[in-house]
Amino acid sequence: MRVIIEQAKCCGAGQCVLAAPDIFDQREDDGIVILLQENPSEESRADVLQAIKVCPALAIRLEG
Ligand code: SF4
Repeated sequence: MRVIIEQAKCCGAGQCVLAAPDIFDQREDDGIVILLQENPSEESRADVLQAIKVCPALAIRLEG
């Protein structure tokens, strides 16, 4: 699976980091999302789906 983030949409809410701290982080200065793993293992799928669900900006997608 492949995780796609759109930093232009991100409002720095940090919900994705709470849901999947292994996959997402936030920039120090403005809180915009950083992708730590573009191709995480299947074990992380539930966490990524949760992050997608809770992101208020709809800035995260999953392919595959
Ligand atoms: S939850 Fe969405 S808006 Fe918030 S930091 Fe993550 S990607 Fe950005």
